[in-house]
Amino acid sequence: MSDLYQQISKRAKELEQETARFLMDMIRVPSFSGKEKEVIQVIKKEMEAVGFDEVRIDGLGSVIGRIGSGPRVIAFDAHIDTVYPGDQSLWSFDPFSPKIEDGKLYGRGASDQEAGMASMVTAGKLIKEMGLNKDFTIYFTGTVMEEDCDGLCWKYIINEEKIRPELVVITEPTSLNIYRGHRGRMEMQVKVGGLSCHGSAPERGDNAIYKISRIALEIEKLHPRLMTDPFLGKGSVCVSQVFFTGPSQCAVPDGAWINLDRRLTWGETKESAVAEVKDACARAGYPDAEVIVLNYAEPAYTGLVYPMEKYYPTWVTPEDSPYVKTAMDAYEATLGRKPLVDKWTFSTNAVSIAGMEKIPCIGMGPGHENQAHAPNEHCPVDHLSAASGFYAAFVARLNGKA
Ligand SMILES: [Zn+2]
Repeated sequence: MSDLYQQISKRAKELEQETARFLMDMIRVPSFSGKEKEVIQVIKKEMEAVGFDEVRIDGLGSVIGRIGSGPRVIAFDAHIDTVYPGDQSLWSFDPFSPKIEDGKLYGRGASDQEAGMASMVTAGKLIKEMGLNKDFTIYFTGTVMEEDCDGLCWKYIINEEKIRPELVVITEPTSLNIYRGHRGRMEMQVKVGGLSCHGSAPERGDNAIYKISRIALEIEKLHPRLMTDPFLGKGSVCVSQVFFTGPSQCAVPDGAWINLDRRLTWGETKESAVAEVKDACARAGYPDAEVIVLNYAEPAYTGLVYPMEKYYPTWVTPEDSPYVKTAMDAYEATLGRKPLVDKWTFSTNAVSIAGMEKIPCIGMGPGHENQAHAPNEHCPVDHLSAASGFYAAFVARLNGKA
């Protein structure tokens, strides 16, 4: 380990309690999707206190901190919205009163993924303090609405804020491993019509629930036929919700529809996924059933509605990418061990950055993926300094220092 990496590691450790304090400041302010206004202010203040070169809030409400103004552009991203606590009786403490116990920091958002945000800001401090950057404009984004529509915030940053980095580091929880991809996903709907009539003489009508049920059973049979990728695993589909319309409980329903959760492995696209569902409808005997990809059009806390189709493409950064190599070198030099290079099970903002816009992404973040959306969510405190040290070392390495 060279001296510089040793110094980065040591300083990151010294700042660990400070990083944990900032993480707890964020947890104390509930920040559900579309309701992030207050936590964004907490992050903005922290970035300003650390001495970022510029801190601003974009039209969708994400906070964008900048360090440096070099010709090359990279970004670190953390979404700072969280899901709701769910059934509070499953928690052994108040999800918004963070605490540290046995080396773990507890609270809603601890792993998913305000810890990543905390480590990013500390990395910014290290980069400034130790003079680790010269060639880069580095953006540190605390982004909104990821839990409801992953990638929307970055679709906005790229297309409206006109920021197009050469690389984005996603700081969602990786258990401190380096990740380079995940399956994509889609939300689809299948709709059929019927003919209502009095329930006492069902033969007069055309029952939409029977029709959608036959289609649902074909979707069940579609799932095992989907393709598998050696790195990302298998594509999947399931019926997640069912709805109907009809005049009364004593009537044949005149409409029914199901929503599908589709996970897309490498090689599966929106077109292929829609075609498979249409084929399932035909197999059920209803080739004219309507198959649609749903849209997201909820307002941000700023009031802006920035619609997006709920198609979140698959992405993989190749194993031999120079960014993966640089990340592995910086990791080993700072943390003193080789990283495991793997993938996420869940989906992240990289669906728009890498999946749609083809900007390479890599992932490394504090916390564990299995803590996401779970009661008693926590993040190991020592992950915070490991991640901030890695981010700073990665920037140093990209700048050719050490
Ligand atoms: Zn997340």
